[in-house]
Amino acid sequence: MNIIKLLSSFQRLRPHTRSYLLRLPVEILLEILNLLPPHCLLVIYQTCRPLRAITHQYFLSGRGEILATLEDKLRYLTCLARSLPDYWVCARCCKLHKIVWRDVPATHLYNPECEYGSDLWRDPEDIQIRNSFALNMPAHRHVQLTLKYTRLRTIKWRQRRRLQRLLEPHYFPDKERFYNHKEEGILEQSSFYPKVIDGRYVHLSVQTYLGAQNTISRQFLRRERICHHIRDYKTNLTMAFDMAFSAKDSQLFFSCSSCGTDFSIQASPELVIICTWQDLGPEGTVFDPEWESMFCDLTRVSHQPGNARKLYDQLENNEDYLVL
Ligand SMILES: [Zn+2]
Ligand SMILES: [Zn+2]
Repeated sequence: MNIIKLLSSFQRLRPHTRSYLLRLPVEILLEILNLLPPHCLLVIYQTCRPLRAITHQYFLSGRGEILATLEDKLRYLTCLARSLPDYWVCARCCKLHKIVWRDVPATHLYNPECEYGSDLWRDPEDIQIRNSFALNMPAHRHVQLTLKYTRLRTIKWRQRRRLQRLLEPHYFPDKERFYNHKEEGILEQSSFYPKVIDGRYVHLSVQTYLGAQNTISRQFLRRERICHHIRDYKTNLTMAFDMAFSAKDSQLFFSCSSCGTDFSIQASPELVIICTWQDLGPEGTVFDPEWESMFCDLTRVSHQPGNARKLYDQLENNEDYLVL
């Protein structure tokens, strides 16, 4: 059927339709739809008969595979999952998975079946790594579910309870980490404090080292990891620790030039405290720049030094940040 006739007859039969889109002249509607990426058109296609006919005739018909790349497919699934509180998008197998109650950042007890037997540390640019728990960060699904529950206004009691559990601060108890006898008796503790601010997931992790038997040296901290860009033996990390030890217990602030990470170090031979603030961005896929920049070198996100901390604390901070 001719689209203009179809839409006109729809508008005539339902003059009081609540859909603002369907009240528009078809030419304007086509202009709007023309601006949408393929995965959005596919979602529009599923909404109602008039929009199905329009998107099919003008945009989808004869185009072959609409979702050509993994990124397109994940964006499409992410659109669908926005209104499905009990599902999350798995980048590993490109499917929607049902949530599991015990799967929250505090437990690390659950791994999706599709990740069984895989080596999570194999390749940091692997999509699988970007999907999973890595470093001292929550998994992508935890971030996305937290943002979704915060956005949805009509969630049920059990989903509100789940949101509380997703946002719960969590701690990993004292443990000793040593690689030679000089490093024995240094206790390590990690704590994590997630938040949602202005639709963005922001995260504070606090890493504490206590020299219970031995003192803490720069050498001991050489394997530390702040983010993908400031970690293990890299010169920028060594320099930050050198400065912090020289500053004798003062808290020094630093910022990563490649992702949304700010951090501070307070260091003495007896106690080292590293606070890391990370802005993991809004709802989206593993390909979104804020998330991707945390895991690989394909994308860099520059941010104003101190902005991740400012967003987390919701306070102005006037400290000087050294950009690494
Ligand atoms: Zn999966
Ligand atoms: Zn970084």
